[in-house]
Amino acid sequence: MGRLIGWAATAVGVLVVLFVAAAAGVVTAVSGNGYGTGCGAAVATVGTAPGGLSAEQAANAAVIVAVGQRMRVPVRGWVVAVATALQESELVNVRGGPDDSLGLFQQRPSQGWGTPEQLMSPDYAATAFYTRLLAVPGWERLPLTVAAQRVQRSAYPNAYRRHESHSTQIVAAYTGGSLPVCDGVTVAASGWTRPVAAEIGSKFRTGERPGHDGVDLMAPRGTLIRAASAGLVVRVRCNVDNDSWEPTGAAMPCDRDGSPGVRGCGWYVDIRHTGDIVTRYCHMIRQPAVHIGQTVTVGQPIGNVGSSGNSSAPHLHFEVHRSYPANKDNAVDPISFMADRGAHL
Ligand SMILES: [Zn+2]
Repeated sequence: MGRLIGWAATAVGVLVVLFVAAAAGVVTAVSGNGYGTGCGAAVATVGTAPGGLSAEQAANAAVIVAVGQRMRVPVRGWVVAVATALQESELVNVRGGPDDSLGLFQQRPSQGWGTPEQLMSPDYAATAFYTRLLAVPGWERLPLTVAAQRVQRSAYPNAYRRHESHSTQIVAAYTGGSLPVCDGVTVAASGWTRPVAAEIGSKFRTGERPGHDGVDLMAPRGTLIRAASAGLVVRVRCNVDNDSWEPTGAAMPCDRDGSPGVRGCGWYVDIRHTGDIVTRYCHMIRQPAVHIGQTVTVGQPIGNVGSSGNSSAPHLHFEVHRSYPANKDNAVDPISFMADRGAHL
């Protein structure tokens, strides 16, 4: 994990001063319990403004992160909050927005968010945002756009999406360069994580296997496979020899182990990410846990390691493609692709 920490140390110059959790005086002013049950993270004060922010923007981002930590909101919530504030106010504590909107999150007194004076306090505004976010069922599994929209009821919900990567960078600058999440997955500041933690077997297009368009990750049978980054599931198929099928719910040829004599990817999933990057996950043990059209978050479980299709032993065959749809011509080396994003295989 040390190599992930290096991102903030070199790019931002972190002066690590552990944040001392403040008394919860502000929180008591808000109705509801206001506290999450998720993991927190040590918050650092950054020496220079992260992510190209001005000093004023960085100070406001620091408040949002600190309030999230104080309320024990999972780190994903900090990313949602910073992205929302980037969209609503560009992280500047502004008075006159449209209608009676105020402050970092452009919250409205007429909608029960608080008094104008309260909403001009970044600490109060962030607390109010998190309180409503935590009340959204399953918010951690929702795409950022949907989670933010449930809280904000914005007229332009899709606008939040374009701030996700910047927001992730900003929050990562306060948490040591990578985003800790509650179930032990470490997400790089780029928003990518390795799909399984395993030794590398066969590499991309070697001399012996020039047609091997991915990398083999030698995880044991049943290991959870995680989405390498947020995206949209665009393919879920069983592929054996020259045939492939979408899941029917009935038993399928990919439900049993394949062999080197069988061709095909077995049970597999394609996920389309920002920039039309596509990742592919092959040889799953059973029908994947996701369906076509489903949005997944980074690190979300999508299936389990198996040996279906062209496989002699359980492993994850992982591919990365530079454009959509994935094909042989746009496959790239997953090892260097992931290394470039700080999520080393
Ligand atoms: Zn392979």
